[in-house]
Amino acid sequence: EELTRKLHPQKEFQFQSARVIAVGSGKGGVGKSTVTVNLAIALAKQGYKVGLIDADIVGFSVSRMMGISGKRPMVIGEDTILPLEVHGIKVISMGSFADEDTPIIWRGPLLAGALEQFLNDVLWGDLDFLLLDLPPGTGDIPLTVMQKIPHAELILVTTPQAAASHVAGRLAFMAQKTQIKLLGIIENMAYFECPNCGEKHYIFGKGATEELAEELKTRILGSIPLDVKVRERSDEGRPIALDDEPVAYIYQDIAKRIAE
Ligand code: ADP
Repeated sequence: EELTRKLHPQKEFQFQSARVIAVGSGKGGVGKSTVTVNLAIALAKQGYKVGLIDADIVGFSVSRMMGISGKRPMVIGEDTILPLEVHGIKVISMGSFADEDTPIIWRGPLLAGALEQFLNDVLWGDLDFLLLDLPPGTGDIPLTVMQKIPHAELILVTTPQAAASHVAGRLAFMAQKTQIKLLGIIENMAYFECPNCGEKHYIFGKGATEELAEELKTRILGSIPLDVKVRERSDEGRPIALDDEPVAYIYQDIAKRIAE
């Protein structure tokens, strides 16, 4: 205990000076995790010290997207974990402790326990931003984050599909109830730009995100196109924000807007 305290003097106050940004969505599959890892990288590229928690304990995917699946972080003493560092970011994910093929069957309190360990027992050091990739929806974990970290801010990820933006609104409502600041919306899979003719195709429709932003009195921080490279880079563990690609510049703009 003595050693842990020495190694980890600010155990109780780790995030007082960091901006904590939770990234959530109404439903799964809209690209929330993809957006979170790319945003983390874009912020790190601008020189910020960034930590990333995969708070989707059951449906973890951050470690695969960051190329560190199955890599275990170092543990010091009884309960102090050193986060893995990859692409300039400190990362912690259940993907380091469980394998992807074995289902995790946990009850709510255990999930919240794992999240608290990620928050309290990980030696994050000095951070400018801590990003949390929330599980989709308005379950225990998003609620725990909003209650335990009163200075957390929320970003909603949605596609322009009305069904997705509608459920995203529920998470915003939860934020409002817990007095968590809504930073804005990131629209993902906004359009597909045909590589042959250059025309934009609005696969998931158009307009629902603007409507949601208006309804929630918030702004759209950026719109990410549907792009095969986004998916490929995530699958390879090298998110697209690392590259010199148009999508990477969109993420840079979003990062600047957030850091303002
Ligand atoms: P969620 O976290 O919302 O469940 P993911 O981030 O896991 O969603 O994304 C779901 C799938 O869609 C992944 O295979 C991911 O690579 C892909 N994807 C996400 N955003 C894009 C995009 N803008 N263009 C192409 N594929 C994307």
